[in-house]
Amino acid sequence: MERFDKKGMILIPNPVRKVAGTVKVLIVRELFCPAGHSLISERAVFNGYPGILLGVGLNESKGLVALSPVCGDKTRISLDIDLPADRIVNLFCPTCGIDLPRYATCGCGADLTALFLTRNASFNDCIGVCNRIGCINARFVTNGELISETMLETL
Ligand SMILES: [Zn+2]
Ligand SMILES: [Zn+2]
Repeated sequence: MERFDKKGMILIPNPVRKVAGTVKVLIVRELFCPAGHSLISERAVFNGYPGILLGVGLNESKGLVALSPVCGDKTRISLDIDLPADRIVNLFCPTCGIDLPRYATCGCGADLTALFLTRNASFNDCIGVCNRIGCINARFVTNGELISETMLETL
């Protein structure tokens, strides 16, 4: 895997750095599959923070996709798989292979896939990410309440 450095990490230019210090950013530190496996991995580091690592399947191909743990940062990196724009993929836990459940329907017609903020796997505390490549829609829900990006600036 030539895109990894010696420590098994991938380092990328981070667009969030430009706004860091002027806007508060929410960083996802813990995230779980329905079976309680962590979806946060140091294999992909964004702005110094471990990223969200998910299994991704498209037809017969399988790979990984890393998402920034920084709320509002839309950076996504695919590893070992080509992900053409607009395709709908299957997202699963890279540890146990369980499919991540659908949280809601995205505005684009694909699924917002749920990643859980607690081991209880409650839809009241989850992140929904769209499973269509190129759709950067995401929802952050805590205590059953939807957090919008504009609200974050006032947190
Ligand atoms: Zn799992
Ligand atoms: Zn979408």
